[in-house]
Amino acid sequence: MKRRDFLRNTFGACSTIWLGQNFFDVCKALAQEQPKEQATKLVYIRSGLENPTGSDQSYFWLELMVSGVAEIIPSSVPDEFLFLIKKCRPGDLTGQMNYDNPYIKRAEVKAVNQQDCSVRLVVKNQNVMPEMRYALVPSVLRAGMYRLRIDAGSFSSPTAIKESDLEIQESNLAFGPLATRAFTDLIVIHHVGMGAAEEAAAEIHRLHLRNGWSGIGYHYVIHKNGMIERGRPRDTVGAHTYNHNGSSVGIVLDGNFEDAIPTAVQLEKTARLVAALSHIYNITPDYNNVVGHRDLNTTLCPGKNLYIELPQVRDKALAYMKE
Ligand SMILES: [Zn+2]
Repeated sequence: MKRRDFLRNTFGACSTIWLGQNFFDVCKALAQEQPKEQATKLVYIRSGLENPTGSDQSYFWLELMVSGVAEIIPSSVPDEFLFLIKKCRPGDLTGQMNYDNPYIKRAEVKAVNQQDCSVRLVVKNQNVMPEMRYALVPSVLRAGMYRLRIDAGSFSSPTAIKESDLEIQESNLAFGPLATRAFTDLIVIHHVGMGAAEEAAAEIHRLHLRNGWSGIGYHYVIHKNGMIERGRPRDTVGAHTYNHNGSSVGIVLDGNFEDAIPTAVQLEKTARLVAALSHIYNITPDYNNVVGHRDLNTTLCPGKNLYIELPQVRDKALAYMKE
């Protein structure tokens, strides 16, 4: 019995067949059984994340719809899949593939010879590669099309950046009474706005205590060298944006950005922190949820030179969340 008939007879009623570790062998065998006259095309490639058990481990999956069977070439590079698609031209493939994909960094289609093409898919996160499993979907198999479903390794969450990755300096300040926020749907960006001197969290703490507050009103201070200091504990009500402290996190960047311009590393760290906080509070870092102080109160804060960078900060944060 031919291998394909065996698979069809054995698994025909199932929605998915798990084929274990011998993926490469089965693909090669199926490829050899292909009718020689049938042209092969890659119809589409899709990928995504799935969390079948509801745990904090997600699976990366990659699905290829192929008319005919793609031959998988084991690749020595740890973050790529390499396929040989027979009897097609690069032009047959390029229009059909979705390159704008959160999990696949790059797809390259090249002619190997006059008849066959290679497809190289480079994934964005190397962690997805080590434990590849795959499946063929028989309803597609019967129609003469093959959907190769590859479940690659697991990784902990779709967010690449966590607060613990940011090496936040604990400032160990003594606070007066603090209330806990019931919910959070807003991140407000500020500047220190005073002179050129470096302002440590402890110094802002001292000034804010003098205002009669419970201590530093911001939750984070981002310095010109990119160092992030913790201010008020993350889940407590801050004192930074009138009428909005009960639902927001306040981030202050050191500098007066009416005059100076924020450093590149300062903006980079802001985007990373916004990504981590957006993940924690399950918000999208867009115009509604990540704002400058001047969007909410009558103030110049966070200064015009920082304010015009906020669209970039939001875009970067969103990209980091998808990585
Ligand atoms: Zn402000």
